Amino acid sequence: MKKILLVILSVVLFTVSFGSNKVYVGTNAEFPPFEYLEKGEMVGFDVDLAKEIGKIMGKEIVMKDMAFDGLIPALQTKKVDLIIAGMTATEDRKKTVNFSDPYYSANQVIVLNEENTDIKGFEDLKGKKIGVMLGFTGDFVITEMGYPSEKFNAAFAGIMALQSKKIDAVVLDSETANNYIKKNDNLKLAEGKGEAEDYAIAIRKADKELLEEVNSAIEELKENGKFEELLTKYFK
Ligand code: GLN
Repeated sequence: MKKILLVILSVVLFTVSFGSNKVYVGTNAEFPPFEYLEKGEMVGFDVDLAKEIGKIMGKEIVMKDMAFDGLIPALQTKKVDLIIAGMTATEDRKKTVNFSDPYYSANQVIVLNEENTDIKGFEDLKGKKIGVMLGFTGDFVITEMGYPSEKFNAAFAGIMALQSKKIDAVVLDSETANNYIKKNDNLKLAEGKGEAEDYAIAIRKADKELLEEVNSAIEELKENGKFEELLTKYFK
């Protein structure tokens, strides 16, 4: 009888300790090829990267899809433990969260309709109707330049407005912009590019241990070739 109780107890303890072995990861699945929905399922570079990091940490990764500007609040209120969302490690965000070592370098670019000939770089955006995504780095860059802009909730919505000529240009991260251009013959990129920005995983300031675990997992993935494999899968 005692033995049976002991077995039951160990099973319970096992489930309790390992059942909570989950890491909740917030993202905004509207940012291809980093995260997007395919037949209702969340896929992309960041999603795979999160899963690989989870494997190394021996933890189950649970992805949560939400609005981009809700990600940092969700991290702070512990609804998620990590953010992986093509998020740029900006100085401003560093005031509220920690960032892992960078895992991708991108920059802001200008998406135009094919026939546009008067916008070559950021200085030519003056007086134009510019579309940005609310709370994205493109939004900050354009605001800092002193240009007014129309704010969209997702890259896709901005691209649609551009295609229907409601706006003249969309300022967006390079990889996502390329993704839309590949799929739409009537779109092109302006020559001028913004400064480089680093994508990194956001972590609560207090979670120092988790930060180290994530950083060493990224390092391991870079060393064992898995990281390169993911780059090839999504960008080449
Ligand atoms: N890199 C941009 C930012 O951090 C956009 C990220 C995204 O839309 N997922 O603001």
